[in-house]
Amino acid sequence: MSAESTPTSQADCLFCRIVAGEIPATIVHETPNTTAFRDIDPQAPTHVLVVPKRHVPTLAELADVSPEELAEVVRAAGEVARMEGLERGYRAVYNTGPDAQQSVFHAHVHVVGGRPMTWPPG
Ligand code: C5P
Repeated sequence: MSAESTPTSQADCLFCRIVAGEIPATIVHETPNTTAFRDIDPQAPTHVLVVPKRHVPTLAELADVSPEELAEVVRAAGEVARMEGLERGYRAVYNTGPDAQQSVFHAHVHVVGGRPMTWPPG
């Protein structure tokens, strides 16, 4: 797999359509290869999803296709946390596969914060 051999967008993908501006979302941050928007079902005072603009199902696959774009996602998550004032900390979560309850198969990081988190996650 390489960045050149994978499609950048998939017409029936919800997050591709948000990235393209076809479905409304509250965008809070953008870089050349990432978009960040508020989760429609927030689990904490801050709950933002950072997604690569490229369509890949999981972050592990993004690491294979483009380590640079994966680094851009992680950096963007940190910038979102700073913009949201999460200096006391935040949780960055990426659910992968059905057991982890991944429901949208376009890679994304949940940036969750603004309240104390518990451990272990359920
Ligand atoms: O990790 P998972 O795949 O379950 O996360 C998908 C997330 O996308 C959910 O938290 C859901 O609330 C969010 N979502 C959204 N906007 C949509 C559909 C889903 O923010 N239109």
